[in-house]
Amino acid sequence: MCIFCKIVKGEIPNQTVLEDENFLAFNDINPARKIHVLVIPKQHYDSFDVIPPKVMASMTEFIHKVVSKLEIKESGYRMITNIGSDGGQEVPHLHFHILGGEPVGRLVR
Ligand code: IMP
Repeated sequence: MCIFCKIVKGEIPNQTVLEDENFLAFNDINPARKIHVLVIPKQHYDSFDVIPPKVMASMTEFIHKVVSKLEIKESGYRMITNIGSDGGQEVPHLHFHILGGEPVGRLVR
């Protein structure tokens, strides 16, 4: 079972930001910015590549609630999902990183 499925089952503790029946938002264990929250579907999908569009629509609604709760809507934030090896995905369970609470900087090579 993947590490995020273990978090969903309560086998690994997490710092929950928001939760509903289908989705969970929790603090990243190794935050890259002042705010670094991961949002996952409770059901396992390997990555964004395979999430059904209808589930993604519900996830979008949930992410909007997370952003409201974090109070970063006005200041802005960055949302990232890494996909596969070139994308730098380490945990093979779809997750969106929400980074903010400070200017996150530009994406530069
Ligand atoms: P990825 O590289 O996009 O797959 O990102 C995986 C993220 O999961 C990294 O930012 C890790 O710090 C984070 N992470 C790994 N294990 C845990 C955990 O047990 N709790 C919270 N975050 C985790």
